[in-house]
Amino acid sequence: MSVPKSDQIQQTLFVWRDEVRSARDNHYDCERYFSQIDSVLKWAGIILSALVGTSVFADFTGQSDAAKVSIGLLSFIASGAMTLNTTLKYGERAEKHRVSGAGFQALLDDIEFQVDSIFKNNIIDTSKIESIKETKKKVTADAPGIPDRIYHRKPKKAPHCPKCDSLMVLKTAKKGVNQGKQFWGCSRYPDCDGSLDYV
Ligand SMILES: [Zn+2]
Repeated sequence: MSVPKSDQIQQTLFVWRDEVRSARDNHYDCERYFSQIDSVLKWAGIILSALVGTSVFADFTGQSDAAKVSIGLLSFIASGAMTLNTTLKYGERAEKHRVSGAGFQALLDDIEFQVDSIFKNNIIDTSKIESIKETKKKVTADAPGIPDRIYHRKPKKAPHCPKCDSLMVLKTAKKGVNQGKQFWGCSRYPDCDGSLDYV
C-alpha cells in the first residue's frame, strides 16, 4: 500500500539508516579484528612449531640446559597459540561478523532505496517499510555481540538531517527546558532548523 509522505515515517527511516550504518561498521570492524588475531595466532603456532620441530631433530646431548628449557618453552607457547585459537575460534567469529555486516549492508541498501523514492516521488510504500522493520529485527537478533573495545572505538557518527538530508552536528541547548542537553542540529542552520534527539 502506498500512502503520501509522512514526516514521522521519514524520520524513522533516517534513524534506522543511522543505526544500520553503525551496526554494519561495527561488524566489519569486528571481522577485521578477529581475522587479525586469527592469522597472528595461526602464524605464531606454525612458526613456533617449525622451530620446535627443527630442534627436536638436533642432537640434545650437546645442548645446555638453557637450550633445553627454551625448546620446552617454545613448544609450550606453540601449543598454547594453537589451543587458544581453536578454543576461541577467532576465524569463525570473524566469519559470523562478516555475514552480519553483509546483512546490515543489504538492509541499508533497502533503506536508502526507500529514502530516495520518498524524496523523488513523495510516496511511502508501507509494506516495504514494514518488511524493512522485520528484516532489521531479524538481522539484529542474529548478529553476534560486539566487544566493548570495538563498540566504543569510534565516536558516534552524525546522523543526516530529517528535513534536508545534510549531515548534522552535535549541539548543546542554550535555553529552554532542555538547557544543557545535547541534541543533533542541522549543519545548514539557520537555513534549515532540522533537529534530532541525541541518544
Ligand atoms: Zn537540514
